[in-house]
Amino acid sequence: MTDTSWLNQLQDNGCRVTSARRAVVETVQGSPRALTPVEVFDLARQRYSALGLVTVYRTLEKLEELHLIQRVHQPHGCQAFISAGHGHQHLLLCKQCGQVEFFDGDDLKPLTESIEQRTGYQIQEHWLQLFGLCEKCK
Ligand SMILES: [Zn+2]
Ligand SMILES: [Zn+2]
Repeated sequence: MTDTSWLNQLQDNGCRVTSARRAVVETVQGSPRALTPVEVFDLARQRYSALGLVTVYRTLEKLEELHLIQRVHQPHGCQAFISAGHGHQHLLLCKQCGQVEFFDGDDLKPLTESIEQRTGYQIQEHWLQLFGLCEKCK
């Protein structure tokens, strides 16, 4: 996916494409690691110096609504965002440098079945994120 298609989707969903929004989109889309809103702000200001933090939050919110980015939970509790993977995927996050990988496949069925039995819930969705050290950091 290119920057243009993200910007088009924002526009189709009622967001005017401004230089500020463009800077936010380009920053998040080009990042191999998850970024907090404040990190997005700092990086995107290098592209558009008049950027405001509120615009960063609003743009991230909209991109998340459109499933273009997804939320990453970090070990220290700050929320961060990364370009979304396609379809159902799981996240792997390096605790040291923040690098994010997506991976397919899990074998959660036995676990969810035993939880359903124990709790009486019908489990419909899950969200899986693993923490560790990437090849460079270990
Ligand atoms: Zn790392
Ligand atoms: Zn899964």
